[in-house]
Amino acid sequence: MTITGKNSATFREATVAVHAGEFIDPATRASSPNLVMSATFAPTEVPGFSARDDKDYEGYVYGRVSSPTVRQLENKLAALEGAEFALAFGSGVAAGHALIAGRMSAGDHLLMPDSSYVGIAELARYTLPRFGIEVSCVDTTNPKAFAAAIKPNTRMVWLETPANPTMEICDIATLAKIAHDMGVRDVVVDSTFATPIATKPLSLGADFVLHSLTKYIGGHGDAMGGAVIGRKAELAALNLESTVHFGGILSPFNAWLILRGAATLPIRMKAHQEAAMKLATHLESHPAIKRVFYPGLASHSQHALAKSQMKNFSGMLTFQTHENGMELAKRMVKQLELIHYAVSLGHHRSLICWIGTDDIEKSTYRHGPEAASRFRQYTGEGIFRLSVGIEDGDDLWGDLVKCF
Ligand SMILES: *Cc1c(COP(=O)(O)O)cnc(C)c1O
Repeated sequence: MTITGKNSATFREATVAVHAGEFIDPATRASSPNLVMSATFAPTEVPGFSARDDKDYEGYVYGRVSSPTVRQLENKLAALEGAEFALAFGSGVAAGHALIAGRMSAGDHLLMPDSSYVGIAELARYTLPRFGIEVSCVDTTNPKAFAAAIKPNTRMVWLETPANPTMEICDIATLAKIAHDMGVRDVVVDSTFATPIATKPLSLGADFVLHSLTKYIGGHGDAMGGAVIGRKAELAALNLESTVHFGGILSPFNAWLILRGAATLPIRMKAHQEAAMKLATHLESHPAIKRVFYPGLASHSQHALAKSQMKNFSGMLTFQTHENGMELAKRMVKQLELIHYAVSLGHHRSLICWIGTDDIEKSTYRHGPEAASRFRQYTGEGIFRLSVGIEDGDDLWGDLVKCF
């Protein structure tokens, strides 16, 4: 049985996660996916020397164009998103860069959220303008402001929900419709925090979904990767341009690790949500804590939207403390035993880090006064970003509460 993007709707999600992209190897009858590390392949006909000449050849030619283990992962990701196709890259940022640089040209305008994942935010603010791409930012929780920010040359809008690090939710269906009605070609959703278990952005009108596979999809913190998921024709063109010419491909070994991780995504997301809900509830009632932002809490200002757009609230939460965050962070580094004080997220083990508002404003966002004051509503002087793992929620709370 081969489950692909085309027939994945026939099966339930837990089955898709395990079986999609996988098959019994006809040569060896191996039940688990083979790890194929070969950089080149001996084709059955004389190939052209440029990948542009081989567009109609179905087999593998060279590892930068496509390779079997990576393709198995891509097929699993496409099936999980209910999409036609997926392309994997060496990291989430490589995937984002490939998508933007492969789809946009000098003179085009890219509309970004006024706060989003720092790597892509800095790529957009600092690098793209050097190549003649116009970039501006808007509050994507406000559809009116979003519509007003679209220009005649807006080629792509970038959405991220829940957003890293504010935990703001944006309404994908509403914003995708506004953008398309106003002539924008590409609506992209960075769905790293949500995963396909919570939200399927393509079904809400997005054209492309981006994932950092380093996070929930790989899920174990041992392999970096990224993916762009969408329609086959557009991704085939992107494969030629962005994979072959930019070269930021995923290693087959990482694909093999991520393929194994992705098979358990549905049960891991249930466990992440359960432990995160427990911690969010405990944090909300603790006197050391000023505010908690978790989409699953009734106190989240967009809880209703989160409920309508997310089938799972995921494991990411942020909180502000009454105490100076840097001082508390220093204690956490020394005192935490289960939770690692570290960046990254979506791993099976819990991770926490402090993000100082002044620092991130200076290094990354450089908001104008209005956006800066909105950002501060979510972050105060700084926030702790907690990626709740799949450990027991009570054990995690015991570890965390001793630092307060
Ligand atoms: C981590 C992350 C990325 C970048 O992914 P890398 O694999 O670290 O390059 C992009 N978007 C979001 C929301 C992320 O959390």
